[in-house]
Amino acid sequence: MKSLQDSVAELKGVGPKRVADLATLNIDTIEDLLTYYPSRYDDFTPTDLSTAKDKQKITLKGQIVSEPLFTRFGYRRNRLSFRIRVGQQVVMVTFFNQPYLKKQVEMDRQVTVMGKWDARRQQITANKLVTTASNKGNEYGAIYPVNKHIRQGTLRSLIRQAFEDYQNVIPTLLPQSLRDHYRLMDRRQMIKEMHFPEDAAMAKAARRTATYEEFFLFQLRLQAIRRVHQREDGTRILYHNDEVKQFIAGLPFELTDAQKRVVNEICRDLRLPYQMNRLLQGDVGSGKTVVAAIAIYATITAGYQAALMAPTEILASQHAEKLAKVFAGTHVHVGLLTGSLTTKQHRELLTAIKRGDINLIIGTHALIQNDVQYANLGLVITDEQHRFGVNQRQQLREKGEHPDVLAMTATPIPRTLAITTYGEMDVSVIDQLPAGRKPIQTKWIQGKNTNEALHFLRDQLSSGAQAYVVSPLIEESESLDVQNATDLYQQLAAYFEPNYQVGLLHGRMSGDEKDAVMDQFKNGQIQVLVSTTVVEVGVDNPNATVMIIYDADRFGLAQLHQLRGRVGRGQRQSYCLLIADPKTPEGKERMKTMVATTDGFQVAQKDLELRGSGDILGDKQSGVPDFKVGDPVGDLKILQIAREDAANLLAEPHWDAYDDNQPLVLYLKRHQLETHFD
Ligand code: ADP
Ligand code: MG
Repeated sequence: MKSLQDSVAELKGVGPKRVADLATLNIDTIEDLLTYYPSRYDDFTPTDLSTAKDKQKITLKGQIVSEPLFTRFGYRRNRLSFRIRVGQQVVMVTFFNQPYLKKQVEMDRQVTVMGKWDARRQQITANKLVTTASNKGNEYGAIYPVNKHIRQGTLRSLIRQAFEDYQNVIPTLLPQSLRDHYRLMDRRQMIKEMHFPEDAAMAKAARRTATYEEFFLFQLRLQAIRRVHQREDGTRILYHNDEVKQFIAGLPFELTDAQKRVVNEICRDLRLPYQMNRLLQGDVGSGKTVVAAIAIYATITAGYQAALMAPTEILASQHAEKLAKVFAGTHVHVGLLTGSLTTKQHRELLTAIKRGDINLIIGTHALIQNDVQYANLGLVITDEQHRFGVNQRQQLREKGEHPDVLAMTATPIPRTLAITTYGEMDVSVIDQLPAGRKPIQTKWIQGKNTNEALHFLRDQLSSGAQAYVVSPLIEESESLDVQNATDLYQQLAAYFEPNYQVGLLHGRMSGDEKDAVMDQFKNGQIQVLVSTTVVEVGVDNPNATVMIIYDADRFGLAQLHQLRGRVGRGQRQSYCLLIADPKTPEGKERMKTMVATTDGFQVAQKDLELRGSGDILGDKQSGVPDFKVGDPVGDLKILQIAREDAANLLAEPHWDAYDDNQPLVLYLKRHQLETHFD
């Protein structure tokens, strides 16, 4: 019985030498061969001459009707010309400097030529010739990535042979329902059309099926693994739906659609007996805090405690302040656990936590340390770059807690990367800002034209604005970095004297010095804050509406986006000026991207495209798998859909018992994965 797992040696004309040659392309089995897809296609579909425009690239197919004429001129230059009849018309074809084509052209022969159309002279300056013999009448030909061991033609004919011999044993993996739903081809047809398509449309349709199938199978494996992990017991948080709804209704605004969606995703997880492990992504200001508040509230209606962990004490106390307001008048009792408590306060707080009198505990890492005993911890939320690691979860487990975990981040991770690399986490995305926000206007100021920026800044200051000015980044040297900032500070102080006050902030200043400058900036004593990139984190002054970044091309897109996020936090229109003279195409693209969008996810996505996914996380760790057909950037939509479909399938009870799913069950078994989860 034939099987796709047969060795390529089963094919005619494939001996040990050829087996070894094919192995250099990672082709061992018939399946490897059949899924060795073309990297592109040569399109020899003839152009309709009546619609061809001058200088257009066209393809003509016809019969040679004149003796070819070969002439040399100048040093190593030559020309080959002949006439072909295309339908009723005779067209002159000219090749320059391809003398070897002489052998292939002779009277009466059928040829296909590609090149540039000269409409006035009705002639084509061709650069590619295909004789009918070499393209076997196939006008749309697959081109494979090959190496020095295997020739294009050899590979093509082996694939054809393999397809002819094995087409009847190609199992379709995707269930009928999914194929119907997305109008996908069955696998046999898909493989056929990938290799031997009639035309571009067929090839495209086949690629669409292949891409979906590849992503779906990848997600199926990933999620099968995840489901095994999830079987570890978690907490079933049976919150009171009505109370949660009431709480949401009491908020001073309507949730955005994106917020509603992620609230649903989180609440569904809370109810499940598994341990939630979810990443909540959203740009600065997208309203993550309120989503977290809803999750906390839900948890508390179920009689559990919630903890919110922030990276610094300052951020923890900011959260505590915000949330105390949100929860005023409810039965949420907030406790802030920080190092600045007295011993007595600390002891009392711990007691209240242990008794369950405090049901929302906010703090830093201290929250999971040993002296903190919870009454019944149901949910842990971590904020900003504070990925809750396996170790910390283990720490809690040892204390007998299996809380659901929600990690919030304002650093957009391109969806592609999130989906492919955070395989162990579910990802929720708030991809929409609350209505009425004025998008920050971004302008790229070329080169050394800093005066334009300064005039604009003076204008803004005169109408009461405040501004950040970020000095050039010198990564190699902190002292140069500081020097730059200091120079710029002196320059601007002189420029704006005596009307406006300029302040300076950099990494070499002490904590107290920084705080003092920040306070002056916040209360308006300073109008312009010159700074190194330290403003990136934690600085919040809603009255600041101008961000000027010097030598902006030295920063990566992610960092530029974070810097820009310092403005646009109030009611007034905000502006970001990028002063840059990028020398590379990528540098220019970065500036254009910043001007074009304020959406952090689009910025991150562009970053991914410009740098390549490997670059972002370092080749080895990126974890972005090598897909054969699918491109996780270009085919993102398909990846997302496939992911959902795989999840839905595995979530169906007894999914592995249905006939239609048996090929997938076999597929998972072949990858040594379990198929039954309950
Ligand atoms: P993030 O934590 O994502 O940076 P926040 O949750 O702090 O964002 O929200 C930013 C601001 O927007 C807050 O003042 C918040 O009250 C407000 N906000 C949040 N959601 C909405 C909404 N749906 N409509 C209007 N304003 C909102
Ligand atoms: Mg926030």
